[in-house]
Amino acid sequence: MKRIVLIYQSLLGLYGDRGNAMVLRSRLEARGIDAEIIAVEPGDEVPPDGLVYLLGGGEDAAQISAVKLLKDDGTIYKAIDGGAVLFAVCAGYQITGNSFTVGDDDRVIEGLGLLDVDTRRGPERAVGEILTRWRRPDGSDYLITGFENHGGFTTLGPQAQALATVEVGVGNANDGTEGAVQGHVIGTYPHGPVLARNPALADHLLELALGETLSELPSAEIEELRRQRIAFVR
Ligand code: GLN
Repeated sequence: MKRIVLIYQSLLGLYGDRGNAMVLRSRLEARGIDAEIIAVEPGDEVPPDGLVYLLGGGEDAAQISAVKLLKDDGTIYKAIDGGAVLFAVCAGYQITGNSFTVGDDDRVIEGLGLLDVDTRRGPERAVGEILTRWRRPDGSDYLITGFENHGGFTTLGPQAQALATVEVGVGNANDGTEGAVQGHVIGTYPHGPVLARNPALADHLLELALGETLSELPSAEIEELRRQRIAFVR
């Protein structure tokens, strides 16, 4: 049984990013791989045997609580060392980095340090549809659609690579880049949930964590919805 670990939805569950867990489970099951979602809340221990760990978006104060709890627990570090994948959205992305500030407060808070990125208050809030171009491991391009809503702007250090380049929207810091990748840790701003809107990204996470290539799961319905959404955003 493969485990998708959904972390602290009571703190980081504001934007429906829990849907990412359902997408991962259903795409495993569609390939005949048994999967379950383990929802971890403050006070629970983070299980060490997850395949993919998920962090979602949330409010400023909640992300400070979440980072403290995750550090005190410590399991996330061991899980990633052991080959698991961490996929973190928005506030989750910010706390996965080296440091961040929240809102108008310039106090710098230490993040998990799993991504070489730093987040500070941006010149304006980034709100709206976002469209980015992600280079897949096979060299092909794939458009990622979602919506962004963040006041923090994120800059990448040398150990992190951008996940994608921005076609429409703000992304990391209005610098043309979006998200960050460092080994098995991926952070990104789009909600949607982003894995529902962009199933190729969901499969990429699963393939990274499983260390194997998965069969295609073509869906004309999903492709048509993607086509409409991309046309709308452009
Ligand atoms: N509090 C963070 C910001 O505004 C993250 C917001 C979010 O998760 N959508 O930058």
